Amino acid sequence: MSLLLKNGCGIVAGQLQALNVLVEAGRIKQFNGDDTADKVVDLQHAFISPGLVDVHVHLREPGFTNKETVKTGSAAAAHGGFTTIGAMANLNPTPDNGELFMQQVKLNQTGTVKIKQYAPVTKHRQGQAVVNFEELQAAGAFAFSDDGDGITNANVMLTAMKQLAALKLPLCDHAQDMDLTQSGVINAGATAQKLGMPGVNNVSETAQIARNLVLAQATGVHYHVCHVSTKESIELVRIAKASGVNVTCEVTPHHLLLDDTNIVDDDAQYKMNPPLRSQADRLACVAGLMDGTIDMIATDHAPHTDKEKGQGLLASPNGIVGSETAFALLYTKFVSSGIWPLHKLIEWMSIAPTQIFKLTNVGQLKIGDPADLAIFDLEHSTTIAANQFLSKGHNSPFIGQSVYGGTVMTLVNGQIVYRRDSNHD
Ligand SMILES: [Zn+2]
Repeated sequence: MSLLLKNGCGIVAGQLQALNVLVEAGRIKQFNGDDTADKVVDLQHAFISPGLVDVHVHLREPGFTNKETVKTGSAAAAHGGFTTIGAMANLNPTPDNGELFMQQVKLNQTGTVKIKQYAPVTKHRQGQAVVNFEELQAAGAFAFSDDGDGITNANVMLTAMKQLAALKLPLCDHAQDMDLTQSGVINAGATAQKLGMPGVNNVSETAQIARNLVLAQATGVHYHVCHVSTKESIELVRIAKASGVNVTCEVTPHHLLLDDTNIVDDDAQYKMNPPLRSQADRLACVAGLMDGTIDMIATDHAPHTDKEKGQGLLASPNGIVGSETAFALLYTKFVSSGIWPLHKLIEWMSIAPTQIFKLTNVGQLKIGDPADLAIFDLEHSTTIAANQFLSKGHNSPFIGQSVYGGTVMTLVNGQIVYRRDSNHD
């Protein structure tokens, strides 16, 4: 079975140009040949990208299937143009031993995109005793994270880093000093004061990163900071990189697009962890990405039910969905407006995460690679609507926004896993 994607455009040798892609037996066979194929799709000038890679999603299964499942979360990823995702381990049960982990890997295979599974750093993600890293590596863990919670005990962190350094696997840190956070629900600042909400200080993130950078330097581990959000954190990472620490970091679309001035009332669609920070922090995230301090973009897709998120800032859980809106929102805000070249957005959303996490079996728009492709319509605008989400979660502050860059089609190993026409997008 062969498939010809005709009349598209794509970045070849750094230049945006007309592009046809021939897919055969699940792989990219040829660019711009005059081929015939079993099936031909006219892309009408849409943009052909390597499939996007998101190293930070929450799929919620097992344990929280009222929020999301492997099926709905992977369908949401495909809708957003993601062909490979990294699934966090805050599940119930926590996949913290080889047997549970292998069950999780098997469950993940029912998803429509490629799912790489995180293992937790500590047993039950409780921050007390480290897991058996070797056993979990053998079971297929590509990286380790207690995401959702910071690891308070420095000796636990040091022990984990030493062992992961020996195994050459990354430790991905939800950097939060739980003591410093106290009961904060949004960023500490004028908005929190105006709304009468308890605030989260920048130091609750930055102090934890400072400590963990020191431990990372001592151990040589690959230390990856999840969802970096403060200007001080970014400055620390910048200094650490310059002094040779093996550190990388990611930023979310919402920390690039929004800040706490966007919160005008008690609306939990703006509640996430880390919180939306100040405008200065947001601008530092954008600058950090552009100067290479921040390595990649990851969504922190965190679905919750409408009921859960309808309880206001104090009572609602943290997090928003991101898989289905990330590319279009970032394309519209930063590429369409001329701030970023398109190839940089693709680098941050596909190439960098693949390389930094040494992900295998991920297609990167090269002859012979698996045909993992995302096709975006850069010319026509669409409106983000909750009833078009394939995620169970509708918790997004971006509903109703008009964007360019909607997904036309997504392919994984040459199979169409999302198509706009058939999904009534
Ligand atoms: Zn997190």
